[in-house]
Amino acid sequence: MPPAHPFDDDKLHEECGVFGVVGVSDAANFVALGLHALQHRGQEAGGIVSHDPAEGFNSVRRFGYVRDNFTSQSLMQTLPGPLAIGHVRYSTAGSKAAVIRDVQPFFGEFSMGGAAIAHNGNITNANALRRELIERGSIFQSSSDSECIIHLMARSLQRNIPERMEDALRRVEGAFSVVAMTRTKLIGVRDPLGVRPLVLGKVAEGWVLSSETCALDIIGAEYVRDIEPGEMVVISEQGGVESAFPFRRRKSRFCIFEHVYFSRPDSVIGGRSVYETRRQIGVELAKEAPVEADLVCPVPDSGTPAAIGFSQESGIPYAMGIIRNQYMGRTFIEPTEQIRNMGVRLKLNVNRALIKGKRVILVDDSVVRGTTSRKIKDMILDAGAAEVHFRIASPPTAWPCFYGVDTPEREKLLAATMNEDEMRDHLGVDSLRFISLDGLYRAAGAPDGRDNASPQYCDACFSGEYPVAPSDMIEKGFETKTAAE
Ligand code: SF4
Repeated sequence: MPPAHPFDDDKLHEECGVFGVVGVSDAANFVALGLHALQHRGQEAGGIVSHDPAEGFNSVRRFGYVRDNFTSQSLMQTLPGPLAIGHVRYSTAGSKAAVIRDVQPFFGEFSMGGAAIAHNGNITNANALRRELIERGSIFQSSSDSECIIHLMARSLQRNIPERMEDALRRVEGAFSVVAMTRTKLIGVRDPLGVRPLVLGKVAEGWVLSSETCALDIIGAEYVRDIEPGEMVVISEQGGVESAFPFRRRKSRFCIFEHVYFSRPDSVIGGRSVYETRRQIGVELAKEAPVEADLVCPVPDSGTPAAIGFSQESGIPYAMGIIRNQYMGRTFIEPTEQIRNMGVRLKLNVNRALIKGKRVILVDDSVVRGTTSRKIKDMILDAGAAEVHFRIASPPTAWPCFYGVDTPEREKLLAATMNEDEMRDHLGVDSLRFISLDGLYRAAGAPDGRDNASPQYCDACFSGEYPVAPSDMIEKGFETKTAAE
């Protein structure tokens, strides 16, 4: 399996997207389309499990893009039936050297029938659970934290699969949005804090569960509502939707970085347009960190809505100063050294005619290691810009995420070792400003900013305040600033 893309190592990566459909013929075709729309949440591998009353469960798991694997008619014909779930993945928890047995959905055969599960998030006590389960005789097939759920279900004494899943998930700490299926039911569950997204949609006579609403749009499904934090929905093939709240109720702590970067801008989260939140972040940034300049340019594509907002608020013209090569996918996944040295230029190019002699504000979504930011600054200066000012649509990323996002170790995060002035000097730009945490919260729909006594979102990668203690990592020596529980 190819390694992570060589030019994508300076971004945080969402690890997974999940999608499921029940009550339509050839549900797997809908799932393939849904996973294609969720490809931004994981490009390493994807899998689909379907169930047909005559043929039972069928499964296909593959490395690579959905469009390269789940578009052939002959393959899709091996996934018949009115019920299917799927998963796209970017590897983090589990083996870094990817193996097909780590690719979801996972399947388990129980005395009352089979079940498949697809998990978005990260189980923060997975190591402890795995140790306990292995001591009691469980035989793991993969290195994925998500497989713990199947083994916990196998040990449950409950008499049906949804109840076994409840039992299993009560033992699990961390973040989970799970889409699962039995022979006749589609199941969706979110962890009590609702860290990762999950929405419910309706398509014809059937129902859909998806990480994001953009994947409902692609199959013509109607958005019904978000699955609530701590909620489990069980949907039958006949169309009945049962809802339950099997976990202790907690205040929601949705991942605020979904608004900044992970989710697609055409998705809607909790009734809020992701695009509009990002544009509003640009408005807040322009108020908090104004600067005299000639142009506001996004670092494409994720900086675009914030750059538009910055331009609208500041009155400084918006311009496409950097052009992205749309076809720079994984074609150069194992480039030669010569091509590798071209670095970010393979992916982004400066619009020289526009930039020359201008004072440029560059708006980007985040600074992780800072390596890409430096290269982009060099490209802009090489093109003859008079000044370069970075404005960043998230606060400094100073802490790793343990809830389903791939982050470098803390020492490798630029903001973990430098303050804002030091980062400005390190990047070699005329000015550098990040949006404040309060500004980000205002843009994300909290008019009074962050409630420090009881924050409305998870923002641990900025604040260091982890809403669920990352117990496996603490056991390995990771020092948290604070851990609520
Ligand atoms: S730590 Fe950051 S990326 Fe991870 S869930 Fe919290 S806000 Fe999202």
